[in-house]
Amino acid sequence: MGRVLPGQTIGILGGGQLGRFMGIEARLMGFKTVVLDPTAGCPASQVCDKHIQAALDDEKAALELARLSDVVTLEWELIPMQTLAAVEAVKPLFPSSKVIRNIQDRLAQKDFLYKSGFPQTPYAAVSNMEELRAAVKKLGLPCILKRRTHGYDGKGQFRIKTEDDIPKAVQALEAPCVLEATVAFEREISVLLAIGTDGQSRAFPIAENVHKDGILFSTLAPARVPMPRSDEALVLAERVGQALGHVGVMAVEMFQKKDGSLLINEIAPRVHNSGHYTLGGCATSQFEQHLRAVGGLPLGPTVIESPVVMINLLGDLWKNGEPRWEKLTGQPGVKLFLYGKAKAAPGRKMGHFLFIGDPPDGPLAHAQRLYERLL
Ligand code: AMP
Repeated sequence: MGRVLPGQTIGILGGGQLGRFMGIEARLMGFKTVVLDPTAGCPASQVCDKHIQAALDDEKAALELARLSDVVTLEWELIPMQTLAAVEAVKPLFPSSKVIRNIQDRLAQKDFLYKSGFPQTPYAAVSNMEELRAAVKKLGLPCILKRRTHGYDGKGQFRIKTEDDIPKAVQALEAPCVLEATVAFEREISVLLAIGTDGQSRAFPIAENVHKDGILFSTLAPARVPMPRSDEALVLAERVGQALGHVGVMAVEMFQKKDGSLLINEIAPRVHNSGHYTLGGCATSQFEQHLRAVGGLPLGPTVIESPVVMINLLGDLWKNGEPRWEKLTGQPGVKLFLYGKAKAAPGRKMGHFLFIGDPPDGPLAHAQRLYERLL
């Protein structure tokens, strides 16, 4: 594939906040964008040149998107395979359907990691009560049952603490699942990197993440992971990306155990919530980097000038109406990002803010206090 240059069009499958930031960066870089998403007024439609309002499994609509685009990408790994195949038959698609096939299904993803020899949590495929009982016996308690597909942000997961939880778990998820041993981790990190169409890659500073109820709450970058462990994480993520044959930005989420060793938790073959700190915190944002990668352009520098904290703003904050942003926005080092979603709902990602700086009380504690001003 040749280069996609300013003035040409990038097609985006999925129009949430990730597509929105791609659209904004594309416009800054001089590209045109077209987005496919079923929701009128979705976050990306507000910033892209064209919105094709149709379901993500509508092949005719996907072909229309491909016809209008010079290269197509996605903001979500759960785009139906037939949509990806339809697009790929006529235009370059990054990441390719082959990459996504290894990711969409949690079991396929874990099998891929296993076959490639990457460290991960012990797991077992489970599709009924007997298999679950056997898997719990093998992996031990506590453990986590996860749906193989369509589970994200902690949805489609059930934590099994005692034998009594087994029937409840089967009832709650009633779908093919994967059982994982619970990891007593010291910290969670993610490595975000971009791989270009020429195979060259560049990583961002490692992100350190805190999840609450399975949803990302905060990211600190750079992560507090000293050498040589940080290098090990970077090498691991790079090897995963190359083994997948990925093109574009991707995130490899990892658990760091108390002994310092690393286990891969999940691969996201796309721009990622834990990389939001790069938009404002790094020389090149993950969104710009992704567009450079899928467009066949040289990758940008990823240096970070100072520590950055990102805190997600979930719909729960809207329970008494619009939050009082003035309590936050006047504070030094703060950048607020809102996604233009029409309706707030508990657990729904509505926006995030960055705190950029290195205050005496530490960036994480400082950002937490800023967040509390909104409560
Ligand atoms: P996931 O969607 O699978 O990444 O899970 C969301 C979050 O739940 C993770 O970021 C962890 O905080 C937690 N979690 C998931 N799987 C495990 C596990 N096997 N052990 C411990 N915590 C987990």
